[in-house]
Amino acid sequence: MNAPIPNAALQPVMAADLAALPLIEKWISFASVSRDSNLPLIDWTRAQLEAQGVQCEVIHDETGKKANLWATIPAANGETKIGGLVLSGHTDVVPVDGQPWNTDPFVAQVIGDKLYGRGVTDMKAFSATALMMVPELIKRKLKHPLHFAFSYDEEIGCIGVRTMIAWTVDQGYKPAGCIVGEPTGMQVVIAHKGKHGYRTSVRGFEAHSSLTPQGVNAVEIACRFVANLRAMHERLAKEGPFDPVFDVPHTTIHTGVIAGGTALNIIPRDCEIAWEIRHHHLNSPVTLFNEAKEFADAMIPAMQAVAADTGITHTQTSVLPGFSTDADSDIARLCFKCADVDPSTGAGKVSFGTEAALFHQVGVPTIVCGPGHIAQAHQPNEWVTLEQLAWCERFMRRLGDEICVN
Ligand SMILES: [Zn+2]
Repeated sequence: MNAPIPNAALQPVMAADLAALPLIEKWISFASVSRDSNLPLIDWTRAQLEAQGVQCEVIHDETGKKANLWATIPAANGETKIGGLVLSGHTDVVPVDGQPWNTDPFVAQVIGDKLYGRGVTDMKAFSATALMMVPELIKRKLKHPLHFAFSYDEEIGCIGVRTMIAWTVDQGYKPAGCIVGEPTGMQVVIAHKGKHGYRTSVRGFEAHSSLTPQGVNAVEIACRFVANLRAMHERLAKEGPFDPVFDVPHTTIHTGVIAGGTALNIIPRDCEIAWEIRHHHLNSPVTLFNEAKEFADAMIPAMQAVAADTGITHTQTSVLPGFSTDADSDIARLCFKCADVDPSTGAGKVSFGTEAALFHQVGVPTIVCGPGHIAQAHQPNEWVTLEQLAWCERFMRRLGDEICVN
């Protein structure tokens, strides 16, 4: 057993108290921005794990430039596939281009009571702290297998983890629970919203702007569509359904991009809108999409009465399911205990998406719990407090006590 970490409430945490700090610094030193290769980080981590006898599987993307790492410490009885836990984190970080950093983003630096660096919050500290535990877990032997799931391209749509999860299902892995270490301030997040993204394209009919009755104005039709999305959003905000545990307690609908028209004196032929539905479990995104589509469809006859080759089409551009795990489930109770969080006040639900939904989708009960806060993610001078890092270490050590034989 390691010496207990001083209680942050009583005594400030010093960098020297943090056993995981060297590993966190090493992970930060790999500039694994999503657009670039993450292989240096994966290769280094794999070498570290294999040197300790941990079985690793590297699952590459089709370019061979990025990879997921799945690593398993078997149970004391040799079991590798059935039961046990997954500790999951993404290896990629968002770019630092154009951001006013005061330190080198890829050299983690302790200043005062905070650690600075790209990825200290989102979300390398969790993964590195989990890796710190490996020698102890091997020595103390596990009741059930433990897996590390390190993914690529989370920041551009949870891309890598999908192939890794499909691979684990194919290989017959059936973990009993998963902890995704995205920043929650070490609170136990048991649900997040799902997100469906759409592109709606309006095809109008061009004419000289002095002849408006002869044209079909794609921008004006798109604006009516957007105004209806906003009305739907306002109805949800006013009437619900509500889940008060969420930071934003209702489903939201938002338009992110609108693009159309070429010149003031031309009736615009095309207009495109990018929009999303972020839903909790009390709303069906399909029903809401159909409502928006019906509004669009109702405008089409009048458009086609002017020009036949006009219309409104929709493409789904992204789907990230939501997830909701019972606060009374084994995985949630384990995390409340390890995080030392009161289940009656510490169970959270958040509006941002994570890889948790994809583990949940294949039947693995999942929670999100990690150091730092989402408000510091993606920011210049990204930071996490040493207190949060110490909390994460306490979590991992308590987890060790729960899952080890000795
Ligand atoms: Zn993240």
